[in-house]
Amino acid sequence: MPKISTPSYVKGILREKGYAIKKRFGQNFLVDQNYVDRIVAAADLSPTDWVLEIGPGLGVLTHEMAVQAGQVVALEIDRELAGILQETLEAPNVHIVECDALQVDWREVLQGRGWRGGAVKLVANLPYYITTPLIMKALESGLPFEALVVMVQREVADRMVADPGSKDYGVLSLAVQYYSQAEIVTRVPRSVFYPPPEVDSAVVKLVPRPPAVTAPQDELFQVIRAAFQQRRKTIRNSLKALADAWELSGDDLDAALHEAEIGAELRGERLSLNDFSRLTEALIKRC
Ligand code: SAM
Repeated sequence: MPKISTPSYVKGILREKGYAIKKRFGQNFLVDQNYVDRIVAAADLSPTDWVLEIGPGLGVLTHEMAVQAGQVVALEIDRELAGILQETLEAPNVHIVECDALQVDWREVLQGRGWRGGAVKLVANLPYYITTPLIMKALESGLPFEALVVMVQREVADRMVADPGSKDYGVLSLAVQYYSQAEIVTRVPRSVFYPPPEVDSAVVKLVPRPPAVTAPQDELFQVIRAAFQQRRKTIRNSLKALADAWELSGDDLDAALHEAEIGAELRGERLSLNDFSRLTEALIKRC
């Protein structure tokens, strides 16, 4: 097997197969072994692991993971690329599935390849156009993910790990914190991709855990989304429409804010996950 994480291999195979890169599928191939190694090391693979890879492309990560993991199930939307990978990757423990990763039922796909319900790791150099829905799908899937190691745009990585009060803090930060412990593994310059994307990237590792707060999830995220709909509004004004929808009066809203010990004039971006949880519970009590 030639060294595939190099610009010359990637350009060569694309030329040989007459393949034209499809921008609409976010195709930026990783061409630096150093970053391949860092991503795979962050996943901390062992021979019994099942890995779900999204968007294997030409297989730089897939190839490395086939050596270190037990089974790799790789979902690729592009029929041509899936075909090239089938031809070039000689690894019996890799299952290439041609599909849209956002549309398919991952549990069914895994079960169809012999998975029996044990821990799974998700590893991906994600196509940028599906980053957030894909991460939310993984976090909300209920699958026993032990870790998610994903390459995303740097700006999205910053939002994922942001703390209250920072400019990057928002719904995504709170959703990620609700479901997992998140850390940035490494920043990644655009120069290590072919073709180079327009932005820099970062690798983020999420370790799922039971929700860190007690408020019911649906209502909690209704409150969070309302609080960030217009960032410049105070929390009280942001929640007015939601309170109406829940048939709560202005007095109820004030009382809930008071009970949750949240200043009515604060902005949502100042509130932690715990604050939102207390506030949601105080609102529900008054419904
Ligand atoms: N893993 C390869 C690498 O690191 O070089 C390719 C990464 S490239 C950023 C994203 C890959 O995801 C491409 O192969 C693209 O065709 C594939 N892709 C895009 N949208 C997809 C989707 N909805 N489901 C599955 N694969 C998708």
